[in-house]
Amino acid sequence: MIENRLQALRALLEEQKLDAVVVTKEVNLYYFSGFRGDDTALVITADKALLVTDNRYTVQAAQQAPLFELVEQTEGLWTKVAETVKKLGCQRVGFEGGAMVFDTYHRLASLLTGVDFTTSLNLDALRTIKDEEEIRCIREACRIADAAFNDALTFIHAGVTEIEVAARLEQVMRQEGSEKPSFDTIVASGLRGSMPHGTATAKAIGTGEFVTMDFGAKYRGYCSDITRTIVVGHASDRQREVYDAVLDTQEKVLTQIRPGQKGYDIDHYARVNLQKYGLDQYFGHGLGHSLGLEIHEAAPRLAKRNSDTLLAPGMLVTDEPGVYIPEWGGLRIEDTVLVTATGCERLTTSAKKLIEIF
Ligand code: ZN
Ligand code: ZN
Repeated sequence: MIENRLQALRALLEEQKLDAVVVTKEVNLYYFSGFRGDDTALVITADKALLVTDNRYTVQAAQQAPLFELVEQTEGLWTKVAETVKKLGCQRVGFEGGAMVFDTYHRLASLLTGVDFTTSLNLDALRTIKDEEEIRCIREACRIADAAFNDALTFIHAGVTEIEVAARLEQVMRQEGSEKPSFDTIVASGLRGSMPHGTATAKAIGTGEFVTMDFGAKYRGYCSDITRTIVVGHASDRQREVYDAVLDTQEKVLTQIRPGQKGYDIDHYARVNLQKYGLDQYFGHGLGHSLGLEIHEAAPRLAKRNSDTLLAPGMLVTDEPGVYIPEWGGLRIEDTVLVTATGCERLTTSAKKLIEIF
């Protein structure tokens, strides 16, 4: 798999007429080499692949990145990177403009006198379509999140705090094999449910309240993302009505996710569906995002803007409509979804029918 990724990267170098690229973004170090550490850079040319790091990481890098030649630095990463690039005789060198901070860019540029170091590359775009190994990891990350949700149903009751629920979700994910949460766990109950991104607080959950849990696991670097909303006690008629509208939208969206579709159109479809229930004005965020090594990846997106990427097999998106009503509360339902050759597959499979916990 690493071979294929390097091949795609080298095709980009050729297309951009570059002699080398310096890779610095942490997830891309991992993606292109297999190495999982920081303070490291890759220098990749048409026929060479070097990994520049320090002695904290040399043993680990030799194990994790067998296709790379190790270069140990003792006097600063950027000094060594510049020295390596010059030694290889590279004239035109690309970098990750979206990931390299201004000061680092300036430092490297000043060390690379005589080298054209002006081409910014978007290497994240090479990660848009996931390979089999990546899909396997995301599938496992989703299984772990599902297991945590099922456990939470046995744990939640009136009086327990949002933080306690978040801690329990995270503990179960760890026990199931996750390295860490894929983002800060969101648990929002009652009126707090009207905040789409309310991270857990010390608030105790009350009877009759919606509880929205948005969380995910990281497994071998890959993320899952799921949201479920439940009610503690009996759901009111209005709660049921709003919940069913969101669920209907979430499920109908799954019929629209397939190769050739544009994220813009699917997002629009979801809004039109919520409009039927008079709730579209309460849906303020985008319908979904892609994910993989990062919880939010740039493309594809199911949203009003930056969403004209055509969906293709191997892409991952979330399907997460929500309704947030000020002074009332809100809810969201979200699955991680894989685009397949003929449609899509839901990788998070927890139940979605409204659950009341007594
Ligand atoms: Zn989420
Ligand atoms: Zn999400």
